[in-house]
Amino acid sequence: MEQITKVAVVGLGLIGGSILKGLRQKQDYHLLAVSRSQSNLEVAKGVGVAHDYSTDMADVKGYDLVFVCAPIGKTVDAIEQLAKYVDENTIVTDVAGIKKSIVDKVEQVCPMLNFIGSHPMAGTEHKGVENALSDMFVDAKWVITPSIRSRREYIDKLAKVITDLGAKPIIADAQNHDTAAALISHFPLFAAQALFGAIDSYPDENVRELALKLAASGFRDTTRLAATNPELAVDMEMLNKTNVAVAVNAYKEYFSKFLKVFQEDEQKFAEIISELAEKRAKMYSKDGKNTLL
Ligand code: NAP
Repeated sequence: MEQITKVAVVGLGLIGGSILKGLRQKQDYHLLAVSRSQSNLEVAKGVGVAHDYSTDMADVKGYDLVFVCAPIGKTVDAIEQLAKYVDENTIVTDVAGIKKSIVDKVEQVCPMLNFIGSHPMAGTEHKGVENALSDMFVDAKWVITPSIRSRREYIDKLAKVITDLGAKPIIADAQNHDTAAALISHFPLFAAQALFGAIDSYPDENVRELALKLAASGFRDTTRLAATNPELAVDMEMLNKTNVAVAVNAYKEYFSKFLKVFQEDEQKFAEIISELAEKRAKMYSKDGKNTLL
């Protein structure tokens, strides 16, 4: 099987920039960076993330693989535009945090495109190519959501590039991805925002000001996601609303039971939290990596 050598990235933000930076460290790839903005390209050139730079999407013609790294709500439009310039030999993937609606829509509007949806499970709360990291995807999971039309050969080629970025490819159904992503990503984002909002609007002004002044690493860590790039946060929460609502309900149900035990049975509460602490501690290694394969 011929391996992928020519890779283009459309959309030079945090994720697009990190893909380029990660692959730039390998000798095997010829890289093209495509941006709508000349100034963004200049930043990328300054960092030296690619071999070629362009503001013209037509330049992806002849590339083996194109990563579309646009905001979730703009991804299908960007793919549709790109589809004019590639044939069936070019694999097109995206990186959006929501899969089912994107995969279905792309199948509908570009049925001939060799599209395989994907989503790297890594990122930061920052945006833009200037915050891109070459090791962003090292040891991260990267979900691939093939459709029934996706050919094994192309899935394997995409998986090889993902592996070269240091990530572990996980094949999943797009709908299952969205439900799972709501549980571990979109709902935690919602919960962090609500947690920060509740404390930030605590009615007693003196106590509130003191609390925010005293807040150290515990509060910082539990509210970190509330600082997520707002454009991305709105997309993730609103475009996966049904699954976020399912997660909110599961949380509310658990929360009520938890509160009841907390108020009524001290010993049982202590047992539950020590069980949770043990499981949570086992789930991540000392350097913060998920230990579940
Ligand atoms: P970002 O830093 O804001 O970058 C988004 C890039 O998309 C922009 O730099 C811009 O690049 C391009 N773009 C903006 N508007 C566009 C439009 N109307 N049409 C086409 N392209 C447009 O955001 P990001 O964090 O890289 O997010 C990009 C994708 O990665 C999203 O789909 C998100 O779900 C996914 N993702 C993000 C994270 C995370 O933690 N941030 C993690 C995993 C996956 P140009 O100006 O160069 O065209």
